Amino acid sequence: TDAFSHPVCVAVEVAGTGDAMPLASGRPDGLFDSDGTMTKRPVRALTLSALAPRAGQHLWDIGGGSGSIAIEWLLSDPSLSATTIEPNAERSARIAANAAALGVDRLQVIHGFAPEVLRDLPKPDTVFIGGGLSAEMLVWLEAHLAKGTRLVANAVTLESETLLMQAQTRLGGELLRIELSNAAPLGSKRGWKASYPIVQWSVVL
Ligand code: SAH
Repeated sequence: TDAFSHPVCVAVEVAGTGDAMPLASGRPDGLFDSDGTMTKRPVRALTLSALAPRAGQHLWDIGGGSGSIAIEWLLSDPSLSATTIEPNAERSARIAANAAALGVDRLQVIHGFAPEVLRDLPKPDTVFIGGGLSAEMLVWLEAHLAKGTRLVANAVTLESETLLMQAQTRLGGELLRIELSNAAPLGSKRGWKASYPIVQWSVVL
């Protein structure tokens, strides 16, 4: 059928789930091979919503991990492009494999550290910081990104959260704290198992 001739659906069939690929961001975590370093589904959905892709836009995904953010960005529309930056060699190889398996091998994977490797890249419309957040990184981005660039950063540690609070004081934008729990076994009953809270800063420079 037409639905299953789509490359994305073929990839899901190969994975053996028997399901078609959902069309909304926040797709199942199991679609992405990872070593555990991955933005999980509900936070990924909120992150893609904050990144708010518009036709033709280019994303920098800093701290690619499994590539799930850049991959969902690319799955949103064929007109979108993305570069992901990941210093871990095993992870950068995994990002390329995940992108190919999900039908978006147009993802450019840069193996290296931000901000050093950002210098030579074409400028983005939107930047996501999912790893490597530092004062130096924020100073570099403020100095080099064009006015109007959208920037979204997720922090899980107190140290990176502090950087985002200070950045918001300087540059404005929205701070969102995401606290999620899943029901899980607790003895013979169930309890709410909390995930680490995430602080998300979104700003248009
Ligand atoms: N959003 C990713 C998970 C990010 S985990 C996903 O959904 O899969 C954070 C990643 O940032 C790690 O893989 C780590 O290797 C990477 N990282 C750490 N410092 C970095 C830096 N200076 N530049 C780019 N990436 C960095």
